Amino acid sequence: MDCTKFDSIDNREISINRATELKSRIQDYLDIKDKIPRGLSPEQIEKTEAQKKKILNLLNAADEDWDNWKWQLKNRISDVDFLTKVIDLTEKEIKAIKQVQKKYRWSISPYYLSLIDNNNKYCPIKLMSIPSNIEIEKKAGKIDPMGEEFTNPAGSITRRYPDRLIINVTNECAMYCRHCQRRRNIGTEDLHQSREVLQESIDYIRANPEIRDVLITGGDPLTLSDEMLDWLLGEVHAIPSVEYIRLGTRTIVTMPQRISDNLLNILKKYPPLYINTHFNHPMEITKESKEACDKLANIGIPLGNQAVLLNGINNDKFVMRLMNHEMLKCRVRPYYIFHAKKVVGTIHFNTSVAEGIEIMEYLRGYTSGMAIPTYIINAPGGKGKTPILPQYIISHGKNYVKIRTWEGEIIDYPSFPSKPIEDIFK
Ligand code: SF4
Repeated sequence: MDCTKFDSIDNREISINRATELKSRIQDYLDIKDKIPRGLSPEQIEKTEAQKKKILNLLNAADEDWDNWKWQLKNRISDVDFLTKVIDLTEKEIKAIKQVQKKYRWSISPYYLSLIDNNNKYCPIKLMSIPSNIEIEKKAGKIDPMGEEFTNPAGSITRRYPDRLIINVTNECAMYCRHCQRRRNIGTEDLHQSREVLQESIDYIRANPEIRDVLITGGDPLTLSDEMLDWLLGEVHAIPSVEYIRLGTRTIVTMPQRISDNLLNILKKYPPLYINTHFNHPMEITKESKEACDKLANIGIPLGNQAVLLNGINNDKFVMRLMNHEMLKCRVRPYYIFHAKKVVGTIHFNTSVAEGIEIMEYLRGYTSGMAIPTYIINAPGGKGKTPILPQYIISHGKNYVKIRTWEGEIIDYPSFPSKPIEDIFK
């Protein structure tokens, strides 16, 4: 539409000035965003390809193997000597890994290992996947700050809310994240729940019809075989009170090969099905992970992301903004940013709440609402998710509230109690 007919010269001038002002609000981000490492940059794609070739050679394998999730899972790397052939590690780092592995398990899919940038000492992929001595040096934190051990009424269920619950199906993951908030579950070996235990969980849901939302998680449920997933999804889907199922999986990020055609055919059978994944950094958004998201979105599965706010990974307003933009391009909606809990062995990833609030402050208004997740503190002792926001209501007055806009302007906004609808229409 040609607006010139309607706008006076003055209005156009005001609009141009405002547009210039708005652009200046994100100039700092525009200046820095191309310097933030990301998985889809041509340089990173080249580095990853070179690492992939090196790993394939070492494992005496071919591209077809790489694309097969079972091969990826079977060939997870948990041997320091192998690691040193792929990435540069100092003697101190090697010693630390050997020490840590006596207490905490580690394992990385060949795919995720190929994403490590050897030239960056603080590569976020490396920090999230390679054990460090700080895990055992810092003794602070709790094993189970959520008190999840006390929320298991039957089978492998976790129930913390009135109308929904979790079925924990395995402790196995494609990669054991160094920041894992459920580290206590990882243990020393991979343990899938037996069919009997899962059946007990299913029976509990059937017997409690107020449960309308079931989240299947772990560990990572997509480490289960296709047959097992098909059975479990089918059983839960058949319960009349269950309105939809959610799957929580990080394989999209750590082993995207898992999103196979066979899996897609299974998932298609159980709508409405939602998937929440776990991207923490733009380096994790690669050609492969994007393709996995596209395949899921193409069969109609809505995708959300649950990031964890992590020191040295994403506790930066620009990194988080870029990641959210990149995810939306993959049709993944930023859903939550979890404040990292004080879990023993992961304390070095903790940030202050103020850092999380600053990130939220520089999302609202600065970018689309769709790119803004909810920042959550999981209240200790299993008391549930508590949303944390910058302060936008300054005070409540009689028939008004004093609000602060995203640009910091303070405004009195009228706010009157509503009248009964019958009184209005009489
Ligand atoms: S994939 Fe999830 S459950 Fe598994 S180690 Fe990583 S954060 Fe923990």
